Amino acid sequence: MALIVQKYGGTSVGSPDRIKNVANRVAKYQAEGHQVVVVVSAMSGETNRLIALTKEVAATPDPREMDVVISTGEQVTIGLLCMALQAAGVKARSYTGGQVKILTDSAFTKARILNIDEAPIKADLNSGHVVVVAGFQGVDELGNITTLGRGGSDTTGVALAAALKADECQIYTDVDGVYTTDPRIVPEARKLDRITFEEMLEMASLGSKVLQIRSVEFAGKYRVKLRVLSSFQDGGEGTLITVEEETNMEQPVISGIAFNRDEAKLTVLGVPDKPGIAYQILGPIADANIDVDMIIQNVGHDGCTDFSFTVGRGDLEKAAKILEGVKAHIGARSIVADKSMAKVSIVGVGMRSHPGVASRMFRTLAEEGINIQMISTSEIKISVAIDEKYLELAVRVLHKAFELETA
Ligand code: ASP
Ligand code: MG
Repeated sequence: MALIVQKYGGTSVGSPDRIKNVANRVAKYQAEGHQVVVVVSAMSGETNRLIALTKEVAATPDPREMDVVISTGEQVTIGLLCMALQAAGVKARSYTGGQVKILTDSAFTKARILNIDEAPIKADLNSGHVVVVAGFQGVDELGNITTLGRGGSDTTGVALAAALKADECQIYTDVDGVYTTDPRIVPEARKLDRITFEEMLEMASLGSKVLQIRSVEFAGKYRVKLRVLSSFQDGGEGTLITVEEETNMEQPVISGIAFNRDEAKLTVLGVPDKPGIAYQILGPIADANIDVDMIIQNVGHDGCTDFSFTVGRGDLEKAAKILEGVKAHIGARSIVADKSMAKVSIVGVGMRSHPGVASRMFRTLAEEGINIQMISTSEIKISVAIDEKYLELAVRVLHKAFELETA
């Protein structure tokens, strides 16, 4: 007998029929002798609908009241799922985040989980119930309703699995696992049987939006065995996200290729090459809460240098305005903005023990005439910034060069 936490996303509970399907799947697990805790999202589109409603009433809704509104979607699905389970002959009980006491801080709309009272859930499981918990929501010390940020039901699932010391946390979604890259770009992309937490973090933060990043961090920290599976398919093994020691010895060099289309580049031309320049340029950018990703400073000539960095495309205008404002002060000649950048990254823990990965990547891109504008690396990732129009080509040739379709 195992204790399993299953989390079902919005599309998996997107209609009454789909909710009945989920109930049948849960019933099957319980009939096999497992204890099951289910976490559900709101029906697909519901959270967006609720957010749109708040915007119609107030331009900048009060965050506390925002959470009161947007947490309601999950309350509907927990009730409906319990009814469907009961109709299937399964004893089931639903709980909101406040009822099971998913205690969070008071950072409305992006709260963090501090503690979960697992005793009542354990008691229900021991009396043969399936426990259904609303994802995405919690309660702060004062009893205020909080939410965990978009996609936060994943984190609810993982946090419950950690608190209950579950054998596995299964995330049911509309894809059957984590792929080597986006199959819409590379049809030969392959489902991975396993991936490490570290790799998954790099993949998730770069655009393969299978799991909320925080849930992966959480799972890594508490060593929760995490599995991504399709709720529309029976019998698949999905992708297991796990610690490195547990992956097979013959780790492929590269596990996947992630990309992000929404990058933009800013270049400050002709700034004096002296101490403090990077700080003077990036300080005001950071003060405006704009995330900077890649950075390069060119070798100086005649006491001057050029300084480039990338930001999310949505932040480009704001960042450019800030730079125009400090241009005179820092003694820069001009500011150039390029909004059509993309980032492509190869990710793999195998890179640690295999030299020559970067050169293979650069050669592959060179052979296609793709100009690399910036490079950044970590121990398990190499990223390049390129012109957005070459993004799909770059992903395809790299997928092939690292033999990801056959690995
Ligand atoms: N319903 C919330 C959202 O759409 C939480 C979730 O689905 O994980 O972001
Ligand atoms: Mg989701």
